[in-house]
Amino acid sequence: MDYDIAIIGLGPAGSTLARLLSSSFKVIALDKKHQTGDEGFHKPCGGLLADDAQKAFVRQNLNLPKSILTDPQIFSVKTFDLQSKLVRNYQRSYVSFDRHKFDLWLKSLIPENVTVLHNTLCKEVRRVIDGYQVTYQDENKVEHNITAQYVVGADGANSVVRRMRYPNHSIRQYVAIQQWFAEKNPHPFYSCIFDNATTNCYAWSISKDGYFIFGGAFAKKEANEHFELLKEKLTQQGFVFGEPLKTEKCLVVYPNRFRDFYTGNENIFLIGEAAGFISASSLEGISYALDSAEILSKILNDRHPKPNKRYYQKTMPLRIKLYSKIIKAKFLTTPLWRKLIMASKIQHINTIK
Ligand SMILES: Cc1cc2nc3c(=O)[nH]c(=O)nc-3n(C[C@H](O)[C@H](O)[C@H](O)COP(=O)(O)OP(=O)(O)OC[C@H]3O[C@@H](n4cnc5c(N)ncnc54)[C@H](O)[C@@H]3O)c2cc1C
Repeated sequence: MDYDIAIIGLGPAGSTLARLLSSSFKVIALDKKHQTGDEGFHKPCGGLLADDAQKAFVRQNLNLPKSILTDPQIFSVKTFDLQSKLVRNYQRSYVSFDRHKFDLWLKSLIPENVTVLHNTLCKEVRRVIDGYQVTYQDENKVEHNITAQYVVGADGANSVVRRMRYPNHSIRQYVAIQQWFAEKNPHPFYSCIFDNATTNCYAWSISKDGYFIFGGAFAKKEANEHFELLKEKLTQQGFVFGEPLKTEKCLVVYPNRFRDFYTGNENIFLIGEAAGFISASSLEGISYALDSAEILSKILNDRHPKPNKRYYQKTMPLRIKLYSKIIKAKFLTTPLWRKLIMASKIQHINTIK
């Protein structure tokens, strides 16, 4: 084998694993993102660091550099229910940051003993004796093969590792669409929008560095139409959009069964969103990417004799927690339950007019 471990994808999950693995392993890590500049793949994301992700940072002894933070930091989420026409304000202690800078910063923390390939696309993972052959395309579109004993799929919602190796473990995917506008709303704010007529997931808006970012997750069929329809409805609610400066799209995993969380087998491991580790109720996924990478790094560093079985066992609490988010999502996306929750005014904070 050329390498002990091949990591496919360097988002929060892959970069964290590459940082935490023992230097005694020979590791290769590849990602389709460009290392510098504004070109190449950027992950569409709200760029909000939730409490659980902050806890992972505490455990991993990491502090966020000021250079990746965005302005302003907002502590309330205005929640709109377009069916019942209720609006509520909930306090949240998110840290708002620039997602692309965040990814590049996490990548920059990978130690030098790891071979990191940027601007590199993984095309295939094939079983060979004693391990796997990984085929990737470099920036000049030239194909290369390497072999590794372990392969880690950290390649996100549309994971090529999951699709190629586990075609029977497909998971529900929605299309996430985000548009950026010049901020024209009188007060920067975050919002969370429920509208069963356009999506049975949810939509959101975030004010960041003079931009107003509006996004939502939609069933693949008619995703664009439903996105535009929702914008129209929100204009009537006082949202100010204007001309879009940028439109971003990507697939997002939207788990709805316990078996959607799949961790791999036979020396292949799935971490982060590739494993289905994302909250169905909020689409928050950075904490689960960091947590699953940390769990796997400990198992591999300990050279556990049955690493797949151990990883499956050790991620059980995480999967149970994520299953509770599926149940929470079912309540939040059911108009009657949502109306009752919001009408109760529990945790709602009144704003001074
Ligand atoms: C619109 C949107 C908004 C979101 N907002 C938030 C938020 O505010 N807060 C939050 O916590 N979570 C949010 N999430 C979820 C969060 O972005 C993901 O759960 C998280 O990024 C998962 O991390 P990951 O490392 O598993 O995967 P990713 O971040 O998706 O990283 C996968 C990496 O793999 C690389 N890759 C993919 N395929 C290949 C390939 N074939 N070859 C080589 N490289 C490849 C990509 O370049 C990427 O760097 C949001 C998701 C969406 C879609």
